[in-house]
Amino acid sequence: MNKNFIWKMQKGKPLEIKIKDMPIGREHFTFIAGPCTIENYDDLLEIAIHLKRMGIKFLRGGAYKMRTSPYDFQGLKEQGLNFIKEVSEKTEMITVSEVICAEDVDLMAEYIDILQVGTRNMYNYSLLKKLGKKTNPIILKRSMSSKIEEWLLAAEYIIAEGNPNVILCERGIRTFEDYTRYTLDISAIQAVKNLSNLPIIIDPSHSSGRRDMIESLSLAAVAAGANGLLIETHFAPDSTICDSQQTIDFEMLKNILVRTNKIRESIFQGETDE
Ligand code: PEP
Ligand code: MN
Repeated sequence: MNKNFIWKMQKGKPLEIKIKDMPIGREHFTFIAGPCTIENYDDLLEIAIHLKRMGIKFLRGGAYKMRTSPYDFQGLKEQGLNFIKEVSEKTEMITVSEVICAEDVDLMAEYIDILQVGTRNMYNYSLLKKLGKKTNPIILKRSMSSKIEEWLLAAEYIIAEGNPNVILCERGIRTFEDYTRYTLDISAIQAVKNLSNLPIIIDPSHSSGRRDMIESLSLAAVAAGANGLLIETHFAPDSTICDSQQTIDFEMLKNILVRTNKIRESIFQGETDE
């Protein structure tokens, strides 16, 4: 790792981001949940109401999807943005959605509170630079094949343009193992803390690709000091168009909430709050 970079993110104390009065950072825990893809208004509203009742304040749903196959469902696009905006106004939740290209940034920054950059776009520097001109917090997922240094420098592209509000998300990297979809790199949590002032959250859904592993990976992430979790959730996971094999239902999510809270209380006593 090149230690001579002048990284803006290394300066100062841990970053605290504020979005609609909700703080995100090392001293807080950010729980983000929702469907992989926004499929229709009614389902999204039902999911949001459930999540809100459970105390979750961040609603995630994809409107533009980066699918491996061009023939797979690509998302509801602007209609999906309208749905999630309306649902979030009704439920008073903070929205997260993925932006897939630089041309969409202006539109999405109007509709969505927190913009997500997916694993396939971590190296899309024109997209990152455009996001650097906005004030929306950005969730920057790690590329499935990037080193930590490359990931941090991708964050630096956003920060260098003037937007310091970057949240890093470890979502699994490609290894020789294929029992899971990717391999969750737990060591990334401490590495990011050593090297930057940015919050780091974990996505156990895309990393494992397996519903039966979401809970244990969430517990491990929280115990290792993650500042948040991003979990694909739906009331009927098997019926979803996209990523159903890794999507969990509300009962599983509740269990994760209860058990991760216990871990945070017992290990970090008062160091973080929601
Ligand atoms: C997603 O969050 O829906 C997604 C596609 O994630 P990733 O970019 O990590 O594959
Ligand atoms: Mn997904």
